[in-house]
Amino acid sequence: MISACSVCSALIVVLSVAALAQAPVKFDSNRAWGHLQQVVGIGPRPSGSAAIEQTRKYIKEQLAAVGLKATEQAWDDETPLGRVHLVNLIVTIPGASKDRIAITGHYDTKLFREFPFVGASDGGSSTAFLIELARVLKARKNPLTYNLIFLDGEEAVVDWRGKDNTYGSRHYVDAAKRDGSLKSIKAMILVDMIADRDLDIRRDSNSTPWLTDIIWNTAARMKLSNYFIPASTTVEDDHLPFLAAGVPSVDIIDLDYSAWHTSRDTLDSVSARSIQVVGDVLLAALPAIEQRLSAH
Ligand SMILES: [Zn+2]
Repeated sequence: MISACSVCSALIVVLSVAALAQAPVKFDSNRAWGHLQQVVGIGPRPSGSAAIEQTRKYIKEQLAAVGLKATEQAWDDETPLGRVHLVNLIVTIPGASKDRIAITGHYDTKLFREFPFVGASDGGSSTAFLIELARVLKARKNPLTYNLIFLDGEEAVVDWRGKDNTYGSRHYVDAAKRDGSLKSIKAMILVDMIADRDLDIRRDSNSTPWLTDIIWNTAARMKLSNYFIPASTTVEDDHLPFLAAGVPSVDIIDLDYSAWHTSRDTLDSVSARSIQVVGDVLLAALPAIEQRLSAH
């Protein structure tokens, strides 16, 4: 004979297993922080260096640990300092539709000879963020296919002018145009310098307004407007090649960072909390972005 009590506990077990199966995997800034410590620990990671090769190895190992494979898109590019070997890392997380949303960020750090530049926020935060986001999106039921793209060569080798910048995004977009795959990218979300302890991310006037609106409105709904500030600035970054090719794109960047391109862009200037805010807002904004793309 089964007592009422054991029926209850059996039910509770069944219900909690069902709840566990449906509970979305949350973005975990503690994990992201661990990745950030690892990549910053590698030291300066400029394009073409042994250290950036080591960074790629780390990214690939971490992705493999959650069952994802990163594909290398490698090429050599002319820079003011000669030919440099560059590599974008591309991860695909299949969804119900073949239409894609690309989430991108750069993993190179700017070359400085005067001091060791480890780029905790500038290069490090986007790298750590994308590794953790990959884990979350892998576990999510995605209506669209996601590409996470770790871009090389965002930084100018010498000065940010002419073609001495955004090598990785320009190469990716050119190649995708040539092989016809660009058409299936319906939106691009770029993260860059998102770990400033005093996080304040302004809307970028180069970014696509509807995409920007969804993200900033989501932040406002979550009462996080003190981080996603409803003020505008204008940013040149890896989203420009995508925008020029007609892909709706948004740059999530905190340019108001006093340690920017200085020896102070270290772990002391950044915080896990800031990475968590960006992860929470972005994941909360995805359903509205997916809905908008499915309706068009
Ligand atoms: Zn930079």
